[in-house]
Amino acid sequence: MSMTDFTIHHLAGQLDRGELSAVELAEECLRRVADRDGEIGAFLAVDADHVRTAAAESDARRAAGKARSPYDGIPIGIKDCIATAGERCSCAPRLLETVVSPYDSTAVARLRAAGFIPFGRLNMDEFAMGSSCENSAFRKTANPHDLSRVPGGSSGGSAAAVAAGLVPAALGSDTGGSIRQPAAFCGITGLKPTYGRVSRYGLVAFASSLDQIGPMTQDTQDAAILLDVLAGRDPLDSTSLPAASGGFADAVSRAGKDLKGVRIGLPREYFGAEGLSPAVAKVVHDAVERVRALGAETVEVSLPHTRYAVAVYYIIATAEASANLARFDGIRYGARVEAPDLVETYFKTRGAGFGDEVKRRILLGTYVLSSGYYDAYYLRAQKVRTLIRRDFEEAAKLCDVMLTPVTPTVAFKFQEKSDPLQMYLSDIFTIALNLSGNCGISIPAGTDPETGMPIGVQFLAPALEEARLLRTARIFEANR
Ligand code: GLN
Repeated sequence: MSMTDFTIHHLAGQLDRGELSAVELAEECLRRVADRDGEIGAFLAVDADHVRTAAAESDARRAAGKARSPYDGIPIGIKDCIATAGERCSCAPRLLETVVSPYDSTAVARLRAAGFIPFGRLNMDEFAMGSSCENSAFRKTANPHDLSRVPGGSSGGSAAAVAAGLVPAALGSDTGGSIRQPAAFCGITGLKPTYGRVSRYGLVAFASSLDQIGPMTQDTQDAAILLDVLAGRDPLDSTSLPAASGGFADAVSRAGKDLKGVRIGLPREYFGAEGLSPAVAKVVHDAVERVRALGAETVEVSLPHTRYAVAVYYIIATAEASANLARFDGIRYGARVEAPDLVETYFKTRGAGFGDEVKRRILLGTYVLSSGYYDAYYLRAQKVRTLIRRDFEEAAKLCDVMLTPVTPTVAFKFQEKSDPLQMYLSDIFTIALNLSGNCGISIPAGTDPETGMPIGVQFLAPALEEARLLRTARIFEANR
């Protein structure tokens, strides 16, 4: 089985023609994990029994003419914060190491309903807080393109697993860039859907007004296939949108050959940004030339409040996280450090169970919500969030999609960003999109000649315009 053919759409064809069985495919993934994941470290766990049983069931369904979809039997890696029934769901802190989910998240339930096989638990920064996977309490995940470099984060395990071809695709979650940034660092495709497009039920909450589950895949066609399966209203998530979903894979397969008539906005603030490395700037510049050559009209647009995005995000996200993580008190979930009284038990459990970055964010979030500071920080950040959203609305009047860098640099080396602020600033191009609620995709666009590391570009589209987004990205991808 060749690596280049390890896409969902290709495998579906092989399964359909009987050239491959689900059991053979599952065994191939298990073998790849056994062979390569020792050095990469993408997976925290793989329940081989679950995978084998599900694969045998899939083959039986197909043999009986009852395949649930063309994709029945294809394994999908799952980030460790997205619940799969009967498997661990830890989000990578010590505190939840032993937690086994009693239920499926809606995302996993929808995958199963289409016959996909949830495959393993993928490493991540603790509670999805981070940009390098270095905040996992359990293991280091390396970038498959250079093992001395990070895969990005927080969905670093998902990106590394897909880039190394251990699984055809994976689910990630994106609160401030956690799908798009690791996708760019590892040379794969990562889609952050519109807020509310995919149910968050069974996704361990980090910042509830920003979190969104999305596909991490080899190409746009696979991203569209998974979005078709994942998207849709869910009564179990009141923020999920009633919008009509589906037809994304269709939109991609009928994408056409050029970008004539498409207006692509280039946000001024994303191009001259401080810290943008020459290698990334060159790839983005070449991408602009490419879309022009494909017939798109490029227009300069402005997102003037971009410079506040990182600050606003670190107020809103930490405020929501401090509230969401209050439930992890040693009483209801996971490990407990026993102490003579209840309050002491809370303190000791949380002291021992959370890592430094999570504690830093809980402290920050608690502070910005505390009486006397609420108006000065939290309320003001919410107002600036509205301004950021309006920037996107204004820009949308001038263009159909926007094209931007994803990250200022290529994947950095382990421990290179030991200062948390430096790490936060590396999210400068991804964070505003979550604050706006709109959708975006990171797709591979080139490599850094010096390090050989992949570089991505990001397309951004208005809320619920994933079909437009995917179509544009597909045409770009086909002309790489
Ligand atoms: N890197 C950002 C952070 O640390 C975004 C994380 C995410 O999207 N989950 O918060």
